[in-house]
Amino acid sequence: MSQLNEAQIAEIVGRVMQRVLPQSGGSSKEPYCAPAPSNYQPGAPAIIRSSLGLGVFADLDRAVDAAHLAFAQLDGTTLEIRAKMIEAMRQICLAEVENLSHMAVQETGLGRVDHKLKKNHLATTKTPGIEILRPQAYSGDHGLMLTERAPYGVIGAITPTTNPTETIICNAIGMIAGGNAAVFNVHPGAKGVSNYLVDKLNRAIVSAGGPENLICTVAEPTIESAQALMKHPGIRLLVVTGGPGVVKAAMGSGKRTIAAGPGNPPVVVDETADLQRAAKGIVAGGSLDNCIVCVAEKEVIAVSEIADLLKKYILENGGYEVKGPHIQKLRKLVVGPDGLHPNKEWVGKDASKILEAIGIRAQADIIIVEGDEQSPFMQGELLMPVLGFTRTSTAEEAIAMAKRVEHGFGHTACMYSTNIDRLHAMARSINTSIFTKNAPTFAGLGLGGEGYTSFTIASPTGEGLTNALHFTRERRCTLVDAFRIV
Ligand code: NAD
Repeated sequence: MSQLNEAQIAEIVGRVMQRVLPQSGGSSKEPYCAPAPSNYQPGAPAIIRSSLGLGVFADLDRAVDAAHLAFAQLDGTTLEIRAKMIEAMRQICLAEVENLSHMAVQETGLGRVDHKLKKNHLATTKTPGIEILRPQAYSGDHGLMLTERAPYGVIGAITPTTNPTETIICNAIGMIAGGNAAVFNVHPGAKGVSNYLVDKLNRAIVSAGGPENLICTVAEPTIESAQALMKHPGIRLLVVTGGPGVVKAAMGSGKRTIAAGPGNPPVVVDETADLQRAAKGIVAGGSLDNCIVCVAEKEVIAVSEIADLLKKYILENGGYEVKGPHIQKLRKLVVGPDGLHPNKEWVGKDASKILEAIGIRAQADIIIVEGDEQSPFMQGELLMPVLGFTRTSTAEEAIAMAKRVEHGFGHTACMYSTNIDRLHAMARSINTSIFTKNAPTFAGLGLGGEGYTSFTIASPTGEGLTNALHFTRERRCTLVDAFRIV
């Protein structure tokens, strides 16, 4: 076996350190991640051009094959190009934020343009890129161990109608930062704006020196095409964002799955809380995009001692309380026959329009409906700015009720209190991916709160707010008895 000379050792150590400390050492000319193991053989290269838009394919097989070819090309590019691609994706999304927000509301009929602007901006600017994939090194008496993050390959992503463009932006940035290609099957009710966005993102990637078709999509998505994606041999990892149906289907597919499912976020307000702050937070959070966001507050549980005053402040800050016979009218209008699911016609609609439909003319951001724990406004994820309101004798009872109405989704919850022990107790017992203290739940997405954002909050599979790290595999290389530099 030949011995390495000092110059060769120094050169290898330099390369290793460049990877361990990429922020201080400039960019490596070598590909950052090794390709994922896969036996899938894509079809002939002639199929990769689509006339429907860059990355938009009539047929799922072609979309997957094109993504495989793009992934193979990406594997040969540098980290520097990958960073440029992500920057170009952010720039095109910033330029398109207005367009995307208008198009999404027009096509889906859900939410508010002013709030979609904020959500799209958030996804564009606060989704982490390659900087979150820090290689790690351990050194000691036995040499050096290095771990790096490698891509899976081609990821299958299924996205919801509630955050159509935000989820594509967030998933695409994270997946490509991880060195992957992606094939999307979007919600059929948002395919127009989604196809438009996929074309724009691919153009940005190509302009930054990346391959064509790194993000592919099916032009006419259906539940059947989503299920075919889940079973496709060319897909290494599934990332699904939606309700219980898609989560169950993906988790039964036999593929590795990251599943972001439904929620029913409760807000607890106790007698020690700053009630003005709580009221403003509840209205701001519960009205976000007309409450279609999975993290948005869906019901309020107030300790009796302060419930009337809290309600008064909610009404002074943009809330409207529906009372008496109007409650039954509202229930008939917006709740489905099972008492748990919404009447889809009213999902994501303005509070004032909902009020008008039951004969009330008033401007409001949210509607509150007082009832007991079993009320559908407490139990169901209604995805509209109609929040249940109930009272309990003590904060402990409120926390216990919040846990019950959250149904074990483990998604999101919130508490307003100045009692640290109670905040701590609720955070621990409700065990959700996001828990906000004295702030609207959207602060937990990094909107007015610290930290990065994600629009795929994977509670069923445990990743929480997903980012590029979750879209990569960990790989270790151990170099025994050498390569320490001290
Ligand atoms: P949805 O479940 O109806 O659809 C989501 C996606 O899954 C769509 O692309 C749809 O075509 C597909 N789909 C639905 N059922 C399927 C099945 N059986 N097999 C294969 N594919 C299927 O949800 P939606 O109305 O678009 O979005 C709202 C729901 O998503 C709410 O429950 C909300 O809480 C949840 N959501 C969760 C997150 C999160 O990060 N946890 C984010 C956004 C939305």
